[in-house]
Amino acid sequence: MARSLSYIAPSQLISMSRNPRVAIVDVRDEERSYDAHIAGSHHYASDTFSEKIPDLLQAVKGKDTLVFHCALSKVRGPSCARMFLDYLSEMKEDAGISKVMVLERGFNGWQASGRPVCRCTEMPCKGESP
Ligand SMILES: [Zn+2]
Repeated sequence: MARSLSYIAPSQLISMSRNPRVAIVDVRDEERSYDAHIAGSHHYASDTFSEKIPDLLQAVKGKDTLVFHCALSKVRGPSCARMFLDYLSEMKEDAGISKVMVLERGFNGWQASGRPVCRCTEMPCKGESP
């Protein structure tokens, strides 16, 4: 069950996100509330991420790929993704997640390249995947 972190480009995520087994996890903090987000993404703020991992696991039941991102995916995104990987490796049972990825250039890169964003205030976002 060795898993490692890999990076994914926005263009790859666009095609991957049509797969119902892919979940996007936004770990930005309060920026999420005044900025837009990727449609259908989950929100687990990085400052409380470690405590919320069990909730996240519940929320992504049935998914096999998780794509993490923060604003730039430089610090918070990869560090939460690593925390999540560590958690998975310590779990006794298999959560069914085979891939943990980080979105290159984060939300800012996504938005800057003209990818679709969602501005709803629903939690969790029920927006269509891009
Ligand atoms: Zn939304």
